[in-house]
Amino acid sequence: MRLATITNWAYGATVALTLASGTTMLLASSAQQEERTSVSQRYALDRATATIEEDVLALSELARQYAINGDASDRLAYAKLRSELGTVEARTRQIKDAGAGEDELRSLREALSWADALQVQQEQAIAARRRGNADAALRALFAPEYERELDRSRAAVERFQYRLDQRTADDLRAAEKTARIWRSTSEAMLAVTGLLFLCVLYFIFRRRVLHPVVKLSDVIGRLAAQDYEAEPPQYDQIDEIGDMAQALRVFRENGIERQRLERERDADRAVRDLLSRMTQRMQGCDTVTELKNVVQRFVPEVAPQLAGRLYLFDPARNVLVEGCSWLDPIHSAAEFSPLACWGLRRGAPHRPSGASFDVPCGHLIGEPAPESLCLPLIGQQGTLGMLYLENRTADRATPLVETYLEFLAENIGLALDNLRLREALRLLAMIDPLTTLPNRRQLDEVLATALADAERSGSSICCAMIDVDHFKRFNDEHGHDAGDAVLRRVGQTLKDAVRDTNLVFRYGGEEFLLLLPGMGEAAAAVRAEEIRSRIAALRVQYEGKDLGPITASVGLACAPSHTDWQSLVQTADAALLRAKQAGRNQVITASERRRRSA
Ligand code: GH3
Ligand code: MG
Ligand code: MG
Repeated sequence: MRLATITNWAYGATVALTLASGTTMLLASSAQQEERTSVSQRYALDRATATIEEDVLALSELARQYAINGDASDRLAYAKLRSELGTVEARTRQIKDAGAGEDELRSLREALSWADALQVQQEQAIAARRRGNADAALRALFAPEYERELDRSRAAVERFQYRLDQRTADDLRAAEKTARIWRSTSEAMLAVTGLLFLCVLYFIFRRRVLHPVVKLSDVIGRLAAQDYEAEPPQYDQIDEIGDMAQALRVFRENGIERQRLERERDADRAVRDLLSRMTQRMQGCDTVTELKNVVQRFVPEVAPQLAGRLYLFDPARNVLVEGCSWLDPIHSAAEFSPLACWGLRRGAPHRPSGASFDVPCGHLIGEPAPESLCLPLIGQQGTLGMLYLENRTADRATPLVETYLEFLAENIGLALDNLRLREALRLLAMIDPLTTLPNRRQLDEVLATALADAERSGSSICCAMIDVDHFKRFNDEHGHDAGDAVLRRVGQTLKDAVRDTNLVFRYGGEEFLLLLPGMGEAAAAVRAEEIRSRIAALRVQYEGKDLGPITASVGLACAPSHTDWQSLVQTADAALLRAKQAGRNQVITASERRRRSA
């Protein structure tokens, strides 16, 4: 039963009992009132009847004194008292008015009639005495018959008074009894009310309220301090305390759920931070090797339960090759064709085992098949590689958090694509678009390495500087596009003339440079002459018009025979100038100039 219901019932019962005990108190007090009325009535009747006997005796005494003395004053006193007594009816009415019953009145009338009879004898005796017959008067008043009548009259009065006493005593007893009953009832009701109050206090406030509230407040305190170990007590009764315990249980469950979500959110945030740091580091990578290091360092942190491998696509061989690995994956081949991976085939994450049933990839090795995940890395130009992950923990139920891993793979793919793009741009920046020969920027890089290598090994390296003679004329006479056509043909001729096309550069304008590492002066001179003659043999037509003969002058220098390694290009340039000055369309080597000048 609910506390409010119990309290209402107890309240109602207390009010009813209080009203009832009030009523009984009123009844007891009215019984006491009746008692008082009986007493006062008794007093009134006592007063009304007290003189009857005395009056009878007084009249008898006065009559006797007159009969003995013959004193007129006694006769007058007798007459006066006689007249004062009034009639029997008047005296009876007075006593009836005072509350006497019919029975009592009957006794009273009997007593008074005896008194009246005596008065008749007294008056006769008084009359005899007045006539002088004292003996007759004395005989009448002192005769045994008179005495008997007097006694009868006195006995009748006493009977009347006895009845009166009897009745008033009965009334008093009845009133007292009623008052006592009502008083006891009222006291009993007060006791019941008090008991009820005590019961309510004990059961409701101590057992049903105080004890549970103390327990609940302890749990509330612990829950408020986020101590969700605190178990709310189980109260099965359907009341406010039960409701509170239930509400606390719900509050605790919500708190535990919130704590779990917070832990998940923190873990999620930590992984996201890690991923964002990894992305930043990958964006800062200049080479694929740097990128591999970043992947190898960060991926085991993001997914510690997963071993993995980063495969890079080698388009020349059309295979995926291991780039790097972490936590020793054992279930995937180090190299395989793109067709062996369903992830690469479909261009989507592939997870052949675990929660989702699917076809296992061809590159997977060993039994039983691991819980694995293949995440293809796709760039703008197509496949870049593949991120392979396998569950190495004993717990096969460990979930692969695909969302993070897909995000990870996407970022690795982007970083790889970025590196490829940067490489392409770098190459573009190193290539002369008109002749498709490496340009001066690439020359600086290649030259520095080649000279350093040659200097370190002490081997010979030659440099031929080639300049088209009177090139300006082509522009002037046939237009700039015709000049471009000449430059393209000269560039192609140079490519055809050398074995390693990476060592022919467009130095600028109509000047070209050929590096011949490891070649001696004589062989270089032969190669330079061959180039010169090939150019001289060129016939270029532009828009149907023959552009005329094309010749070039070549300055050749070799290190260390002609100069030191660092001055190789300047020496070749000086030789070229000499060739121009010497009439163009010829090869001049630095040594010749030196020998001549020497
Ligand atoms: P020299 O025999 O003394 O070398 O005479 P030259 O006319 O060949 O040399 P000069 O330095 O006087 O002229 C070079 C010209 O080449 C000037 C420039 O307008 C032209 N030129 C440079 N780069 C290009 C190019 O990419 N295309 C075309 N069409 N002309 C170019
Ligand atoms: Mg020039
Ligand atoms: Mg020129």
